[in-house]
Amino acid sequence: MNFFDKDLQQVHEDLVNKKVSAKEITQAVIDNIKNHEEQLHAFLRVNEAEALAAAEKVDEEGIKDDQLLAGIPLAVKDNILTDGITTTAASKMLEHFKPVYDATVISKLKEQRFINVGKTNLDEFAMGSSTENSAFGPTHNPWNTDYVPGGSSGGSGAAVGAGEVLGALGTDTGGSVRMPGSLNGVVGSKPTYGRVSRYGIVAFGSSFDQVGWLTQNVKDNAYLTSVISGHDEHDMTSSDREVPDFAAGLNDSTSVKGLRIGLPKEYMTDAISPAVRKGIEDAAKLYESLGATVDEVSLPHTEDGIPVYYILATAEASSNLGRYDGIRYGFRAADAKNIDDVYVKSRSEGFGPEVKRRIMLGTFALSAGSYDAYFMQAAKVRRMMANDFVDVFQNYDLIMAPMGTDVAFKLGSETQDPTQMYMNDILSVPANMAGLPSMSVPAGFSKGLPFGMQLIGKPFDEQTMFNAGYVFEQNTDYHKQHPQLGGQN
Ligand code: GLN
Repeated sequence: MNFFDKDLQQVHEDLVNKKVSAKEITQAVIDNIKNHEEQLHAFLRVNEAEALAAAEKVDEEGIKDDQLLAGIPLAVKDNILTDGITTTAASKMLEHFKPVYDATVISKLKEQRFINVGKTNLDEFAMGSSTENSAFGPTHNPWNTDYVPGGSSGGSGAAVGAGEVLGALGTDTGGSVRMPGSLNGVVGSKPTYGRVSRYGIVAFGSSFDQVGWLTQNVKDNAYLTSVISGHDEHDMTSSDREVPDFAAGLNDSTSVKGLRIGLPKEYMTDAISPAVRKGIEDAAKLYESLGATVDEVSLPHTEDGIPVYYILATAEASSNLGRYDGIRYGFRAADAKNIDDVYVKSRSEGFGPEVKRRIMLGTFALSAGSYDAYFMQAAKVRRMMANDFVDVFQNYDLIMAPMGTDVAFKLGSETQDPTQMYMNDILSVPANMAGLPSMSVPAGFSKGLPFGMQLIGKPFDEQTMFNAGYVFEQNTDYHKQHPQLGGQN
């Protein structure tokens, strides 16, 4: 059983009407994972025993109509804490780390009795754009296993892209949910900064990190986002704004009538491949034919995004990762002779090369001699980038753009050149800089590989973004195409 053309509501109804049991659905997902795992390596852990036991319990207790997620198996990126289940962040540092509590997003899903079917692969500590930085080996793209699934939530992207599961949690610091969404042909969204609690997420860049969903379709994405949203006393940056039922708020094509959409010219440069450019131009025409207006707008500081992001995110990372000292968390080197040795050896052996590079970059940016020149300067440019969006949103309701410059690249083709790898995020990081809701929806194919369109909404206006994505999905069939796994489409 694959989950390509199913949605939460259908599976839920099948469960309520006892056409299928939670245990059967869970077993089906576990079988899917097992059938594909050798080719994809999307998972770091399949929670087989725990998931089947949880599903059995749901079957025994019964499923009420108003609990949409009861008995529904979903996957979880392995940097999200799960009580009693290893959470490794794809790092040797946390290889055997078993959290003693759940992240708030997991607690909220558990209230609805979802089934946590497995922990998905990622770039170590979510640092990367291809899932090749995992200490436990890369994930492969289901559309062509010679290609990357994007990153850092590449395991979640590949699992949903391969139809193994209806949805998977990811985290997005600079594009890590939306890029795998684009490159695996699925829907990936991140909410406004503050909409969803970060409590229990392995911290990377705290002023950017957000939890988001990869799903088969926009409606499920909207629904699941509502479930995990809301104020949390454990996260001071979480917002107490009311959480709308985003799925219930979705509307038909008439709802984009009069919608004012901006298409930033800085996102449509020569760096964009012809196929992606055409996909976005076609999408603009579609919106116009449905009564929206699409105008060229300007976000003048877009090209500063990569240097600014990689200064600020690494600075925050260097501070956040200070906690891995070989004493309080995770890995400790075996032959340390004194306290300095414990720190140095544990960190040298526990962290992979990209994580070390970022700790060094971030420490440098924060050091006394370079704080003003780098960190402060970058913080100022971040504010200017955020202000660019404020200006555009004075006259527009939504921004549309390519999600990335092209389809996925080949495994191994960019690992030797970190700056080339960083450039993949050029169109995804601005939304994180400004803390805005953003999503990728399937918008075309090139060379047998999918690519996505990016939508960026006003702060806390996820509804307009989901709605525009939903209308686009209703009027296109990109999301109806599925990979022939290993068939190298
Ligand atoms: N690719 C970006 C990075 O490497 C974004 C990662 C993320 O969003 N977690 O930092």
